[in-house]
Amino acid sequence: MSLDYSHIIAESQRYLDMIAKEELTMAEKDALVKETVEAFRDHVNPGFLEYRKSVSTDYTSVEWKDGGATFTDVYGKEFIDCLGGYGIYNVGHRHPKVLAAVINQLKRQALHSQELLDPLRALLAKLVAAITPGDLQYVFFVNSGTESVEAAIKFARMYTGRRSFISTTRAFHGKSLGSLSATAKAVFRKPFLPLIPGFHHVPYGNAEAVAMMLESCAFVGEDVAAVIVEPIQGEGGVIVPPDDYLPKLRKLCDQYGALLILDEVQTGMGRTGKMFACEHCGVVPDILCLAKAFGGGVMPIGATVARKPIWEKLIENPFLHTTTFGGNPVCCAAAIANINVLLEENLPQRAAESGAYMLRRLRELAAKYPAVVLEVRGKGLMIGIEFVSNELGYEVAKGLFARGVLVAGTLINAKSIRIEPPLTISRDQQDRVIERLAATLEEVNRLA
Ligand SMILES: *Cc1c(COP(=O)(O)O)cnc(C)c1O
Repeated sequence: MSLDYSHIIAESQRYLDMIAKEELTMAEKDALVKETVEAFRDHVNPGFLEYRKSVSTDYTSVEWKDGGATFTDVYGKEFIDCLGGYGIYNVGHRHPKVLAAVINQLKRQALHSQELLDPLRALLAKLVAAITPGDLQYVFFVNSGTESVEAAIKFARMYTGRRSFISTTRAFHGKSLGSLSATAKAVFRKPFLPLIPGFHHVPYGNAEAVAMMLESCAFVGEDVAAVIVEPIQGEGGVIVPPDDYLPKLRKLCDQYGALLILDEVQTGMGRTGKMFACEHCGVVPDILCLAKAFGGGVMPIGATVARKPIWEKLIENPFLHTTTFGGNPVCCAAAIANINVLLEENLPQRAAESGAYMLRRLRELAAKYPAVVLEVRGKGLMIGIEFVSNELGYEVAKGLFARGVLVAGTLINAKSIRIEPPLTISRDQQDRVIERLAATLEEVNRLA
């Protein structure tokens, strides 16, 4: 007996008709919210609904469309996006130039043959080599941040022949088994131990700790392949290290023949006020990891960029590390447009200016509510607000959500929320965020 799929065809057609619509009727909106919540509960993860209940006044809020620095839910409630999709919307939501590039490429060819030469991968690699610092030259494209770190770990082993790595506490490098080995939070790691062997975590921001670990590893004959760090820790709660941290790590790596891997998945593409955060101190890594905002907030694409010697074995055998979708034409089109827009609109500079303004205003506010806010810190438009307790942080996120500003905690440090809006956010929008935060803090202060 053959299965009857007619209801699946009808149902999927109903979804397709909805996708094709600009606007829904009130009845359709109500139905969509109900169906989304039910399907999340029964088929995605009910835990996610519970989490939303804890951080939002309306956990059934269903997102519908976006543009610039804002998005709206299905009922048309507008939010200023200060979460920025964990830092993916550097050029804003659906920047017209990124969208146009993607649509133009889609009209001709979506994915590549995997066999002939695909032009956009080559042209994007050339642009990436040109904008990344120093002699970073070769680029391997991937689909996500964790994959870019995964590739970096493999390349470091391949090039050095060594097996030990140094990572830092509170680091976030992704959640696939390799990158999770570098990530540093017990709840994410414990259920999956043992991870890949040879990872040592030392306190972040402390070059002396790295020096001691390099020495210890060399002493016992387990030389370090690479030191991997974020120039500013994102998920760790926006932790800015001392100015001389990266220069010291660069020197130590050279001294011990270890590679320096900088994970700029979150700090890259203008976020901190320079195209790449390592430019603030002039340090050139051996391997640079990119993703998140790299695809212009429209397509998922990441990259692992390296100096030429590291590519040696990959040149001998280009199939040593491969991915089917990595560097596909649609994603490359988005990434090319992204680089163009970041430079043409001078967005790293705008991030520096807007970030300095926001930091000043946020610190003024924080000083008024010492019972709620511990610290405001950051660089460019990568800003963290640390609260006295997790609970107060949740209350502030909730209050802002009710007032049409989206923020969220960080994955490793629940006491901190991040302010990572599109770099295109206007002064007027920044002022509205500050006003709404002031109102929220006034309210939350009564609980503190
Ligand atoms: C988000 C993040 C990753 C992981 O990226 P995914 O695309 O979620 O896999 C890795 N490193 C850093 C620094 C990140 O912020």
